[in-house]
Amino acid sequence: MIDQRPTAPADLLIRGAHVLDPRTGIDGRHDVLVKNGVIAEIGDAIEFDGETIDGEGRHVFPGFVDPHVHLRVPGQEHKEDLDSGTRAAAAGGFVAVVAMPNTDPVVENASILRSLREAARREARIPVGFLASVTRGLAGEALTEMAELREAGALGFTDDGKPVWRAGILRKALQYQKLCGGIIALHEEDPTLSGKGVMHEGEVSARLGLTGIPSISESTLIARDAALARYEDGRIHIQHLSARESVEAVAEAKARGVRITCEASPHHLTLTHEALLEDLDTRLKMNPPLRSEDDRQALIAGLRDGTIDCIATDHAPHAREEKEVPFEEAPMGTTGLETAFAAVYSADILPLALIVEKLSAGAALMGLPTPEIAVGKPANLVLIDLATEWEVGEAGYESRSENCAFAGQRLRGKVLTTVAAGGVAYRERSIALTVA
Ligand SMILES: [Zn+2]
Repeated sequence: MIDQRPTAPADLLIRGAHVLDPRTGIDGRHDVLVKNGVIAEIGDAIEFDGETIDGEGRHVFPGFVDPHVHLRVPGQEHKEDLDSGTRAAAAGGFVAVVAMPNTDPVVENASILRSLREAARREARIPVGFLASVTRGLAGEALTEMAELREAGALGFTDDGKPVWRAGILRKALQYQKLCGGIIALHEEDPTLSGKGVMHEGEVSARLGLTGIPSISESTLIARDAALARYEDGRIHIQHLSARESVEAVAEAKARGVRITCEASPHHLTLTHEALLEDLDTRLKMNPPLRSEDDRQALIAGLRDGTIDCIATDHAPHAREEKEVPFEEAPMGTTGLETAFAAVYSADILPLALIVEKLSAGAALMGLPTPEIAVGKPANLVLIDLATEWEVGEAGYESRSENCAFAGQRLRGKVLTTVAAGGVAYRERSIALTVA
């Protein structure tokens, strides 16, 4: 159900790195030997005469998995494609991503999904899974052939970019889910509340004279959909939580036993609407919008107490000319794959082990295997130098688009090597081949 282009299995030794995998409990200085794409040995002073990477002072983590990215294929390849999007993911330490179906055409039938999967088998540098749409054309009116889409390999369903606005339609989708399985991921927004809003509704929108999107536009729909999921015993995943009220709505649903999970994005965890006072930069325009400091703190607390299950980027590339327009007219979205780890790590908001865990927790939610640093497991790992500082955008991007909300920021933590599904998917320039 996840596809990528053929890749040569890696043979390499990472010498003397601090290996941290919160799930297996490993947390110390070790050599990690990868042979034929599999973690063959974790130990000290391992003998190996192949490629050896100096891990001294650096960290090895299980690779990250992003359950929410926009790769813009088919139809919007001027923004991103399978090659550039997965290159950006690998450069950010990701070893698998899940792509959204709001493309052109929408991924709404089995033949579109099959050709997309074939394209991924030719072009994707890391494994990519696909969600299909809940409704035809994302129009919110008629359900797609969910069972057929599942058979064709859809991990699940979402109308991301839009809510499933009619409760009756979502109820039907939850009933079909019982028969065919697959996650239903929800972009929560009541359009009668969000209207033509371009940013968070609050003091900043008032000062700037811009139309706001209130927090309750998100949380009221979460509460409704949690009630529907409870009634149908369905399984839902709430995308990109942005507000305190939303964290509360998910916590209440979890307490009542609803099968609900959710995600938060690095930009909502580290930035607020105040950033727009300094500069009305269209890279800071996304949906849901950057909200208040109180909302940001609620998201951080939600990750710490387990209400929020994972971190997802909502990587949303747009071409330069599309974003170089007045703020009100610019499309919503920021890229995020290349900056996810560094942005969260540099903000000093969460313990390192929790960041690592939450950046790969999306895998299980999407029905994918969780990367683990353990002998016998396929190599899905990332080598990172936590001390290296870099300026976002200074050396360009692997993504085709440059609408990154963190552009110009100095961040700590640089991805040096990513091994995905057993093959080397990314190698930073300084990591030259050094064969002992
Ligand atoms: Zn969305």
